[in-house]
Formats: sequence, structure tokens, C-alpha cells
Amino acid sequence: MANIEVLNSRFSLYDKMYSHELREHSFADWPFRAECSCTPDKMAKAGFVHCPSENEPDVVCCFFCLIELEGWEPDDDPWTEHKKRSPNCGFLTMKKDFTELTVAEFFSMEKERLKIYLVKGRHVERDTNQSRSHVAAAWASGAAAEVLS
Ligand SMILES: [Zn+2]
Repeated sequence: MANIEVLNSRFSLYDKMYSHELREHSFADWPFRAECSCTPDKMAKAGFVHCPSENEPDVVCCFFCLIELEGWEPDDDPWTEHKKRSPNCGFLTMKKDFTELTVAEFFSMEKERLKIYLVKGRHVERDTNQSRSHVAAAWASGAAAEVLS
């Protein structure tokens, strides 16, 4: 699991990642193409953003439920893998395309995304022994990275 700084930066950057196009752009260096089941287009369709690190070049993260998956094989189907690991993800269960959501529906999605982030942050904090209120306070002030560094 990512540390709190990574989690914070992902949460604040991923509000743009409702866009399929931006998610797909994140896979510019993705190795699986053409004949594979996990092409950039399919990865993006399943809600994933490519967030590689030096040691883990194939880590992807769902912009919505923030689950991380790695160790991809050419035949892996991203939607199936996502569903297996995070069956209740709000992105997977979304009935419409993002561009068709009403403003109210969008804000209810964002509220759920915030809730997931706060729960995840709490788990990370438990591991790192930081106080719980930091995450909420950091989010509220919009200076998450600064406060928690
Ligand atoms: Zn998800």
C-alpha cells in the first residue's frame, strides 16, 4: 500500500481522472499493446491510471477506489481483475458514461471517492502512527502534502 504522501497526491490529482482520455494518456509507456488484453485503452476503460515507480514499473491504480494492482500479464482483462479485487468500486458500478452524469450525480461520486480516501488514509496512518485528524484537516486545507510531510 502506498504511503500517505502518495495517497494524498493521488487523491488530489485523480479528480481529473474521470476522463477516459487522461487515464489513457497515463499509459504512454505501458508495455502491453496490440494483441494483449490489457492495452492502454482497456486499462483506462477499467478506471486505471498508470503510476509506475522505479521498482514497480507496472503498478496501476484505480482513480476512484484507489486500489493498486501490479504484475500484469498480456492476457489479463483489466475490468475482470478490477472487479475481482474491488467488487464495490463506484466507478465499476457507475451506470452511465462520465460525460452523461448530472452535476448532482457527479458530486455524489466525489463524496464517495472522498470517503474511500479518508478510510484508506486512516489505514495508512494506523501503520505509520500518525493521528487520524491529520488526513481530514489536510484535505480540508487543501495542503495535504505540506501538512503531512
Ligand atoms: Zn476502482
